[in-house]
Amino acid sequence: MSGKDLRRRAQRAVADTGLRRALAAATDHLALQRGRAIERLENFDDLRRAARDVRTATLARLPDVLATLADRITAAGGHVFFAADAAEACRYVADVARRHGARRIAKAKSMVTEEIRLNHALAAAGFEVVETDLGEWIVQLIGEAPSHVITPAIHLSRGRVAEIFRDHGGEGLTDEPATLTAFARRQLRAVFLSADIGISGANFAVAESGTICLVTNEGNGRMVTSIPPVHIAVVGLERVVETWSDLGLVLSLLARSATGQDLTAYTTMVTGPRRPGEVDGPDELHVVIVDNGRSGILGGAYREILNCIRCGACLNVCPVYRQIGGHAYAAAYSGPIGAVLAPLLAGGAAGELRLASSLCGACYQACPVMIPLQDMLLALRRDAAPQASRVERVIWALWSRAWSRPRLYRLSTRLAGAGARLVPSRLVPRWGAGRQVPRPPREESR
Ligand code: SF4
Repeated sequence: MSGKDLRRRAQRAVADTGLRRALAAATDHLALQRGRAIERLENFDDLRRAARDVRTATLARLPDVLATLADRITAAGGHVFFAADAAEACRYVADVARRHGARRIAKAKSMVTEEIRLNHALAAAGFEVVETDLGEWIVQLIGEAPSHVITPAIHLSRGRVAEIFRDHGGEGLTDEPATLTAFARRQLRAVFLSADIGISGANFAVAESGTICLVTNEGNGRMVTSIPPVHIAVVGLERVVETWSDLGLVLSLLARSATGQDLTAYTTMVTGPRRPGEVDGPDELHVVIVDNGRSGILGGAYREILNCIRCGACLNVCPVYRQIGGHAYAAAYSGPIGAVLAPLLAGGAAGELRLASSLCGACYQACPVMIPLQDMLLALRRDAAPQASRVERVIWALWSRAWSRPRLYRLSTRLAGAGARLVPSRLVPRWGAGRQVPRPPREESR
């Protein structure tokens, strides 16, 4: 795949006015709510700095922190499996399901399971997997991937959701939100009650107690982790925090940055399987800790990207994401976080995503853990420079030389100005496609 594929996908998305209308409404709403939540805090930047420091310190001693996490989960009666890659993680989950003679699996939203394509692996092994987060369930019904880390169906209008539900047993449904959610609740309740296995991700895992922490606004995380007899939590290895006090800090930033809430509606803590005397919870708990390229990132120049708490705030403010949505990225993670993380995790075709940014820095301003996303995108482009064609390299070298000398700089801008007046911008190869560039004035304003 080349940069052309990204351009084609982006052009298709930009031409879809319905998609852009839905995206604009949803991202504006989320960004507005986030702004209000932050205004209610007096010390947002202090919290951001503290969260960045906590995440950085934890990642600096990650092997020890993960060892503590694994010990505590085991001590609480759970099983821990370290998966080196996607294939190992999927195999382990399928083996557990097979051992229990499972048929139906209820799943809570989890980006790492999207990354390792767990649903595909389980479907190929003959299991029925049902997503139970409302947005995730909607996109699953139409065979799509989520298009936002927090709101998977952000690209769909209410009318389209009603249409999807009518096609899946909801005859006569209107697009009234209460009617739609009542229909979804009825369908999903049956899934919770009949599932043999519950699979969740983890927003965080607390090392000091071996606790899996999940936040949801619909309560489906609680159902998936407490009703089926077996719970499997799939966790990216960087999602660990050392203490409950660190957890409090990152949770306070996660909800505000993601949805503008002071706290998410349901915060679920799972420590081990059900103990004697407890009324609910699984008989068996498995925690699959997934590497899948993360330890490589940890040892390199981009390690700070692992500080991410997957709040989605950078997507909502990104001028590129806001126009093209998540599917144009063709990766599990989209927006600025995806443009950095996806190439680092997957390499290859995802490398083109470094181009999906205006480098405006809005993502950094929004990021609750202060990840310098625009600097990383620039560095990824710099890393890719040796792959540029010989002609391209000669052009850039000439440009660099010209702009290092004042006389040549002035001459080149004059020539460029004249050229821009004579040649329509759409005729400029590659760069000009889709852009309307204002004509430069004949004289400089003083
Ligand atoms: S990079 Fe920052 S803003 Fe973007 S999802 Fe991660 S934590 Fe949120």
